[in-house]
Amino acid sequence: LSSIRGHRVHRVSRPQNFTDYESIKQQYSPQIPEYFNFAEDVLDVWAEKEKKGEKASNPAFWWVNDRKQEVRWSFEELGFHSRRLANVLSGACGLNQQDRVFLVLPRVPEWWLVNVACLRTGTVLLPGTSQLTARDILHRLQTSGARCVITDESLAPLLDAVASQCSSLQHKILVSPTKREGWKNFGDLVRNASSDHECVKTRSDDPMTIFFTSGTTGSPKMTQHSHSSYGIGLTVNGRYWLDLTERDVLWNTSDTGWAKSAWSSVYAPWIQGACVFIHHMPRFDSHTVLETLSSYPISTFCTAPTAYRMLVQEDMSRYFNLQHCLCAGEPINPEVMGKWRNATGLDIYEGYGQTETVLIAGTFKGMKIKAGAFGKASPEYDVQVVDEAGNVLPRGVEGNLGIRVKPHKPFSLFTEYTGDPDRTAECYVGDFYLTGDRGVMDEDDYLWFVGRADDVILSAGYRIGPFEVENALIEHQAVAESAVVSSPDPIRGEVVKAFVVLTAEYKSQDQDQLKKELQTYVKKVTAPYKYPRKIEFVEQLPKTVSGKIRRVELRNKEWGRS
Ligand code: ATP
Ligand code: MG
Repeated sequence: LSSIRGHRVHRVSRPQNFTDYESIKQQYSPQIPEYFNFAEDVLDVWAEKEKKGEKASNPAFWWVNDRKQEVRWSFEELGFHSRRLANVLSGACGLNQQDRVFLVLPRVPEWWLVNVACLRTGTVLLPGTSQLTARDILHRLQTSGARCVITDESLAPLLDAVASQCSSLQHKILVSPTKREGWKNFGDLVRNASSDHECVKTRSDDPMTIFFTSGTTGSPKMTQHSHSSYGIGLTVNGRYWLDLTERDVLWNTSDTGWAKSAWSSVYAPWIQGACVFIHHMPRFDSHTVLETLSSYPISTFCTAPTAYRMLVQEDMSRYFNLQHCLCAGEPINPEVMGKWRNATGLDIYEGYGQTETVLIAGTFKGMKIKAGAFGKASPEYDVQVVDEAGNVLPRGVEGNLGIRVKPHKPFSLFTEYTGDPDRTAECYVGDFYLTGDRGVMDEDDYLWFVGRADDVILSAGYRIGPFEVENALIEHQAVAESAVVSSPDPIRGEVVKAFVVLTAEYKSQDQDQLKKELQTYVKKVTAPYKYPRKIEFVEQLPKTVSGKIRRVELRNKEWGRS
């Protein structure tokens, strides 16, 4: 036990996977076989090692909920249950390879079984979030032509309301202890199914999954990936960014509807033989998170920046087994990284990626952290900062973050936005796939985030990234979090406006006085032209289900757009 500012942290150090960036980049040359199936080629291999006693005894899957119920599966057990479900999909439901299965479940163990059973049957998995409306569901079912849907009681009525308009939908499977008319019962089907199932042969480039983007900037896009894209491409995430071994227990808090759950709650940990830990919380609760981190042997923790912002507001004096902490999905404020370090003795390592990709850039464990930068390009990709025509820009110049796709398109890049070839084509310019994000590369090859292309503010000739203003604001004790957007101004065209959520102790202070104080503060800690000329105090910020700030919503309100 070591003592960090009075908080005790239990830590058994072990060598990390990462050595040095240059050699990892040079040695990176994944072999993409003609046929690849993650269930057979990765999961069943771990199960075999377990049997021979060649693997650490960690479970493959460890699930708990608020009622202290637990499910633990070894790789062998995961294989057993998922083979039975595979027999349901290909037997009782008669699904064929590449048929699409729409899955909407919260973080329950069945979600993981469906993931693996789809791999075993070569069916294409479309996971959606539980917060979908009937209209969302209809759109997804019609666009995807899904033949089977698996969900629980909360979504079933919405599905029934639209099912008659979805001609391809043939099977509805309910995960519930109760029955529902017109639905097959998941538990009954699985109980009666055989556990003998031969995994189908899938080509590496066959479609494997269609994930929805988070919908931060507009309606979510259906993003298709092949078997090798996530199944092999997420090796770098697991090995060097999450720094996992078969002895680790990883808790990634993402909702099951987002690609981040495929990244960090399925593929990356299981590539490494690590344990996927899940706490099924109805909603994010800081106390439960801290309690869970200190009650279970969780070595690796990955959550969204918004969650870290909430956690550092809490009393964190307790035991942690944590060795490594990460975040992705949004930029993390250096201020929050500092507070987390003070409380736990651990740094937060940042990762940057999209539903369309695997890790694009990140700070790998052991690499120097530059707070505010993502880190360096992942070895899978040649990441460059490019102009609108796809020309590479010099270091230090802001531009579009792009991934080189010519002469070779990386195998771990999405294949298409389903049913939307125009939108797919729009992402490519010259030799690059454009991420839609703006950034800068520094002299050490670190990439710095400026903002989503649409979020950058143009004020009196200056380009201002919202993130740097938000970083300055959160350094002030009054600010719990903020969102910075452009606002119309008769003289400057646009000015910087900050929506600020105050910390508890500042909520009752004089607001005009506080606005002035915050403006002066930002002028002091960053270039003065970036200070927010307008400030509005709000109780909360608009966010996506995965907790991302929807600046677009605030911006549209400012500009009177619908
Ligand atoms: P949509 O495409 O539907 O508007 P989205 O882009 O938020 O939603 P995701 O694919 O889940 O959907 O998120 C990827 C985006 O999240 C990136 O393009 C980037 O804008 C942002 N992002 C991810 N990681 C980071 C990070 N570490 N720092 C800053 N931004 C990040
Ligand atoms: Mg996006």
